[in-house]
Amino acid sequence: MQNIQLSNTHQSGSVKEKILTGDRATGQLHLGHFVGSLQQRVKLQHCYDQTILVADMQGLTDNSHNPHKVSSNILNVVADYLAVGIDPLKTTICLQSAIPALAELTMYYSNLVSIARLERNPTVKNEIQSKSFGRSIPAGFLTYPISQAADITAFKATMVPVGEDQLPMLEQTNEIVRKLNSIAEEEILVECKPLLSRVPRLPSVDGKNKMSKSMGNTIMLSSGEKDISKAVKAMFTDPNHLKIEDPGRVEGNVVFTYLDAFHPDSTYIAELKENYQAGGVGDGTTKKILEECLQEILKPVRQRRENYISDKGQLVNILKEGTERSQDETNQVLSSVKRAFGLDLF
Ligand code: ATP
Ligand code: MG
Repeated sequence: MQNIQLSNTHQSGSVKEKILTGDRATGQLHLGHFVGSLQQRVKLQHCYDQTILVADMQGLTDNSHNPHKVSSNILNVVADYLAVGIDPLKTTICLQSAIPALAELTMYYSNLVSIARLERNPTVKNEIQSKSFGRSIPAGFLTYPISQAADITAFKATMVPVGEDQLPMLEQTNEIVRKLNSIAEEEILVECKPLLSRVPRLPSVDGKNKMSKSMGNTIMLSSGEKDISKAVKAMFTDPNHLKIEDPGRVEGNVVFTYLDAFHPDSTYIAELKENYQAGGVGDGTTKKILEECLQEILKPVRQRRENYISDKGQLVNILKEGTERSQDETNQVLSSVKRAFGLDLF
């Protein structure tokens, strides 16, 4: 197994632009993460100062009844990062709950955001509906966009690689930045911009929702061959494409959405689409092509992941070291925010 030597290769005072991104510790990472954000992060880590936050506190906002779900997934998420090629010598990986400045900033920013504004956030609105909270929405859940603003600004991130569902969070973050800067009468926080990937929203295999950890509709990076095969066989295609010779629809056909997202040869897929639309290509054929492609991508990831997850001590060390390295920079931002409010007596 590859042994990662931790060292101080992260240059402090670097002039590189700063990236902050992260994932809730609510389950293992899946193909949506892979194309929506992870692949970008692997590339970006070579050119930018990148921090990835394992958002365990945010995971609790809709899982307080089952905290084990969050605590037991922290290291799973770290193992997923390493398995896809995130290099802890190039990217700082840290743990949200172990960085007190993030919770403190959330408290200060809470005064800058109205409940009405939070209720208007379209992603939060959808999630509240799909989680059937009724009138019992946890306050922490409604306000999680504020905690995300704290995470992003605490690292002075200007770029945030995210999926499409996160765009409203970045809008809210920038509103908070502008309000705080106007109170401070100087630019103490920086605005951020999203970095969307080519596939900003991968649907679930039934095509009905976003692939999400919480919805149990995922193909995980750790999924075995049989599970991948089963998931591809269950994919939604074109319900009117009954016989092979029938012309098929490509739009809304999840197999083609995935082929566009994952197959390396776009010319080949364009031809396949033409033939499918003309009639003469069966769903069995398109699913076989997709299955082969996914098996090829996930096999090495799964193997590397198995190695990493078998050495929990190493995963803890990586997370601890990255978390320690994050304390100073986040405390500095906290100090300037307190100063903006005049709360800097000592
Ligand atoms: P949960 O259901 O707990 O919210 P999730 O699967 O939505 O989990 P998150 O941890 O909320 O995953 O998201 C982490 C990052 O991955 C975010 O930037 C998000 O936009 C992106 N992401 C998540 N799911 C997808 C998807 N299906 N397609 C593209 N990007 C995604
Ligand atoms: Mg999510």
